[in-house]
Amino acid sequence: MLVEALGYVGLPGRDLEEWAEYGTRFLGLELAERARSSLAFRMDERQRRIVILSDAAAPVFGWEAADADALDALAARIERAGVAVARGSRALAAERGVADLLVLDDPLGNRLEIFHGAAVADEPFRPGRPISGFRTGALGLGHAVLTVERSESVLPFYRDVLGFGLTDWTVRPFRANFLHVNQRHHSLALIETGKNGLHHLMLEHFMLDDVGQAYDLALGVEDRVAVTLGRHANDLMTSFYARSPSGFLVECGWGGRTIDPARWRAREVMAGPSLWGHERNWLPPEARAEARALRLKAAADGLREPVQVLPGNYEVAG
Ligand code: FE
Repeated sequence: MLVEALGYVGLPGRDLEEWAEYGTRFLGLELAERARSSLAFRMDERQRRIVILSDAAAPVFGWEAADADALDALAARIERAGVAVARGSRALAAERGVADLLVLDDPLGNRLEIFHGAAVADEPFRPGRPISGFRTGALGLGHAVLTVERSESVLPFYRDVLGFGLTDWTVRPFRANFLHVNQRHHSLALIETGKNGLHHLMLEHFMLDDVGQAYDLALGVEDRVAVTLGRHANDLMTSFYARSPSGFLVECGWGGRTIDPARWRAREVMAGPSLWGHERNWLPPEARAEARALRLKAAADGLREPVQVLPGNYEVAG
């Protein structure tokens, strides 16, 4: 696969003070760098993974390629598809902490940067509050979900031009397409809500209790919880969603499944988005009712899936 992971994101955020607090004290990220118009957060050995940009109008997604050859192959592939693509300057590469990058827009006007050679920090990751850490590595930093007016105007770009693989899709209570670039079930999803934007960024914790403790913190702030604790039917993630200072949501998750991209067959998920929970207060009332009906059907059908557990993360009960 040409693109191998979601490597970094740049997110619009006017209030950097509020983001510094939210990023460290709530999400558990490490504040690595504070500049006049940006903040850079670490979540693992990389120098930066999540950057907040006070001047940006739209998000920036940094998609990672293996090396310089893969970057060249991607540039040629994108040009062949008739999509405008440029080399990032040396100054931009230095700012992002990467060896080299391409710059292009997706059909929604989101800025994409395809890079290789991300810089690793000299110091170990120090979380902003005591958490077990984030599941990243070859799976990338997590996943991003975009809201789209119409999937048909965006899906072919990611699937056919950039080479993302379709994992699965749902049609109720909203149309959603889930795309993978590595073993993570999805690194990108497109949900059809009638308007274009960033819906959420998902960060995955090593341990379930980190999600529960983040949930307790979120419950202490009025209107912070946008989607209650629940479990997704397709990637099997246990998670909740919190409002960020910029309005889009952050999904705090644990226990996402991995897939084998070489053998995976795309399929429709009939159960809806969640096996239980995930009451979505961002949805209109009819769609909320439909989502609830789907969950009650899952319960009536006895739908359940094994937890997806990492080594060092469990003990077998007697
Ligand atoms: Fe998600």
